[in-house]
Amino acid sequence: MERLQKVLAHAGVASRRHCEELIAQGHVQVNGQVVREQGMKVDPATDRITVKGREIALEEHVYYLLYKPTGVITSVTDPRGRRVVTDLLTGVKERVYPVGRLDYDTSGLLLLTNDGDLANKLAHPSYEIDKVYRAWVKGVPSQEKLKKLATGIRLEDGMTSPGASRLVKAEPGNAKALIELTIHEGRNRQVRRMCDAIGHPVLTLERIRLGFLTLEGLRPGQYRPLSRQEVDKLR
Ligand code: URA
Repeated sequence: MERLQKVLAHAGVASRRHCEELIAQGHVQVNGQVVREQGMKVDPATDRITVKGREIALEEHVYYLLYKPTGVITSVTDPRGRRVVTDLLTGVKERVYPVGRLDYDTSGLLLLTNDGDLANKLAHPSYEIDKVYRAWVKGVPSQEKLKKLATGIRLEDGMTSPGASRLVKAEPGNAKALIELTIHEGRNRQVRRMCDAIGHPVLTLERIRLGFLTLEGLRPGQYRPLSRQEVDKLR
C-alpha cells in the first residue's frame, strides 16, 4: 500500500505537490469515490484510481509474443494449480494477461500485455486480424470440404465468417492431413468445431500467425517483447 499522492506522482500525473492540490480540489477518485484526504493508502495494483475522470496508467505498457506450448492454460491463475501462460514469462514483472485464448491442447502464437485498450481492440470482432492455424486432422478433407471451411460453416452459435483454407500435405496412406485455416473470429474451440463439422476432427492444433506476427525465431515456451514498430502496427 502506498500514499495516494505518491502513486499519482509516480504515474506521471503531476508533481507530488500538484497531486496534493488535485486531491484537495476533489479531482481524484479511488474506486469511484472522491478522495480529499491526503495520504490515503491505496494499492496501485487493485484500486481503480482516476484523475478528472481518467484512469491513471500505473505501469508502463509492455507487449510480449509467446510461443505457447500445449499443456498450459491461457489464464493468469488456475484454481486447480495447473500451469498458466504467465508462469512462462519469467522475468516479466508487469501484470500482463493474454489477448484472446488458446485451448490447453493448442500451441502457438499468443500475445500478452497490460495494455487494456489494445487488448480490447484486438479482441473485438470488427478488428479483422488474420488468425492462421495449422491443424493435423483425421483423414484428408476434399477440396469441397476445404471450401466450406473457408466460406462458412454452420456451428451451434451461428455461421462462421469467411476466411481461407488449404491443404498443406497429406500423410502417405491418407490417415491424416495438415491443413491451414485462416479465420477472423475467436469463438470458443472454433477451429476444432469447424473441423468436427466437416468430419475431420483435429488431432493437433497450432496458431502460426496473428496478422503480420509469426513464431519465427521462437521455440515452444519461449517469448519475446514486441518492438515499438510492431505495437504501432497493431494499433
Ligand atoms: N480454435 C480452437 O479450436 N482452439 C484454439 O485454441 C484456437 C482456435
